[in-house]
Amino acid sequence: MNILAIGAHGDDLEEFCGGTLALYRRAGHNVWMCVVTDGRGRPAGDPEQVAAIRRAEAQASADVIGAQLIWLAIPDGELMVDEPSRHKLIEAIRSTSADVIITHPPDDYHPDHNATSRLVMDAAQVARTSNYRSSLPPIRKPVPVAFMDSELGINFLPEDYVDISDVWEVKVAMLLKHRSQHMPGPAYDPDYVLPPAEQIAIVRAARILSEFRGLACGATYGEGFRWWRAANRIVARRMLP
Ligand SMILES: [Zn+2]
Repeated sequence: MNILAIGAHGDDLEEFCGGTLALYRRAGHNVWMCVVTDGRGRPAGDPEQVAAIRRAEAQASADVIGAQLIWLAIPDGELMVDEPSRHKLIEAIRSTSADVIITHPPDDYHPDHNATSRLVMDAAQVARTSNYRSSLPPIRKPVPVAFMDSELGINFLPEDYVDISDVWEVKVAMLLKHRSQHMPGPAYDPDYVLPPAEQIAIVRAARILSEFRGLACGATYGEGFRWWRAANRIVARRMLP
């Protein structure tokens, strides 16, 4: 299968579905990690340089599992539900011939997350339209859209789970590639030495959430999902690993 995971920021996919993506790869599926914004928001510094660092980190994370990176490079914090952004997502969906799409839930905390969710839902539908202005063919098959967890799991009740216990260390390895997000100071320090993983705030948050989702499905570590219930989004087989 072709798996297209779409996150707003450089480390969102790792945090909320990194284990699931690792399992898809382990099973031999194609995985694309699409990052919508360019990450220029943090750390402090020249926005173009920061964006280049974030892109390299996202690439390094994708390399951990042999996924392909799609970098849409919309300025961090400026993502809107508009036609230019939707067009980029339609092209991503068509170019990967996605069989399943994973993205943010519609009511997460950050406007970039919420806009990404809305854009993906809209793009998934328009990607079917035969005469839409694109050099890529339309996708006529049903393509399920899974919503991954919200930030800190707030206001998100999973209905489907993946046991990621076997790939927990892979998920952590992917998160650690986002070095710029683990630095205590406001500016990027190329010589910064990361502390042990357990002392890194993002890793701790991922561990607690994964343990909690795992608790619900009888696993040591888990990831939770909901499905978008709509026409053209439902298939009669399991799509998660
Ligand atoms: Zn984010």
